[in-house]
Amino acid sequence: MSVLVVRGAVAVVDGDGRVHTDDVVSVDGVIAETADLTGAIEVDATGCVVTAGLVNAHHHLLQTAFRTLPGTRGIPMRDWLPAMASAYAAAGVDAELTGLAARAGLAEALLSGVTTVADHHLTWPSGADTVGMARAAADAAATLGARLVFVRGAARDDPQEAAASADAIVRALLPGIHGGVSDDGMLQIAVGPAGVHSDPRATFELLGEVAQRHGLRRRTQANEVVDVEIALARYGARPLDLLEEWGWLAPDVTLAHLCDVTDDEIARLAASGVSATHAPGCDVPMGWGVAPVRRLRDAGLAVGLGTSGGGSNDAGHLLADARLAMQVSALVGPQLPASEVLHMATAGSADGLGRPELGRLTPGSAADLCLWDVSGVADAGVADPVAGLLWAAPGRRPRTVVVGGRVVVDEGRLITADEGEIVAHLYERVRR
Ligand SMILES: [Zn+2]
Repeated sequence: MSVLVVRGAVAVVDGDGRVHTDDVVSVDGVIAETADLTGAIEVDATGCVVTAGLVNAHHHLLQTAFRTLPGTRGIPMRDWLPAMASAYAAAGVDAELTGLAARAGLAEALLSGVTTVADHHLTWPSGADTVGMARAAADAAATLGARLVFVRGAARDDPQEAAASADAIVRALLPGIHGGVSDDGMLQIAVGPAGVHSDPRATFELLGEVAQRHGLRRRTQANEVVDVEIALARYGARPLDLLEEWGWLAPDVTLAHLCDVTDDEIARLAASGVSATHAPGCDVPMGWGVAPVRRLRDAGLAVGLGTSGGGSNDAGHLLADARLAMQVSALVGPQLPASEVLHMATAGSADGLGRPELGRLTPGSAADLCLWDVSGVADAGVADPVAGLLWAAPGRRPRTVVVGGRVVVDEGRLITADEGEIVAHLYERVRR
């Protein structure tokens, strides 16, 4: 039996609305009420706020290799898409690049307190070893000790090929498993086209069939500005009308972005049981506007938080984007409180993945947690440690990160891999 106890925190945010100062106990990677602490690993949380590990509900890890790319900033999405596509083509997206980009993006995630990343992989060159690409991302996560949700996406892929590849990936990476999650909970597989602006009905339907066969979650992107424009021009309908018609407004589906939604659409989303991912670190710089999170949540939707990829948001730092979410929320309604945004970045994201055991520190939850040191000058004068965690010290990193009861970041350093080596390998591959 492996026991770990976290002691002495300034505050522990349990993710179900309770803030306390009790010890946090992990037994064999699961949060327990109490345990025999003889021989337990002790983690000193003096000066720290303890939260559940953050859950990044929407990322594109491949774009970690393509940050600040010239010709991709300050331009409309119809120009951004081909600019990114030509960079992918020049680099040659294969298993090696997928693995190295995932390794860098997941190391960045752990070092910024994100213990689970949903990687919506959208770039599948024709004839590529798609199982090898998925396996490379999964191996990167396993080596680092991060939880990965690998989303077999599609962006103008041949619908049959995309579905056959998704099916092959599930069979290869999760053999004999129904429900899309490995027995240890470290790997999940989901499916999802990029959106109605890029993929036809057949892709949605065929990937939906793969999801049904294996019990996978479905994820897509909807109602960024360009998505609405293209849907209206191509089909004479708004994206959510199409998704509804194509069977993609359902409780197992999560929609990222949702910037441009009407009150009527919000009511329909809520009635369908679909969940949402807010990604302001992408939506704002891309000029798509601010999703009406207050209204989505008030309507009853589960809303998570995501960064989206390095091609639009050059960082995978979810806590920084939680701060941004609070800042921009006041432009479209009442400001979102810090406690609510922290809930979105943990339990809200986990719920959209169908993983209620993640993003919480209640007994029975996975022992994924972060110790955030709030004892420095950047936090001096803070009255409320939970509000301060998000509002003060922008870009803060956790002192300690635990995933499944295992310490993976200690004193702010990755202990499962060498950070310098990860950076060097990614540069070497991209420049080759
Ligand atoms: Zn996105």
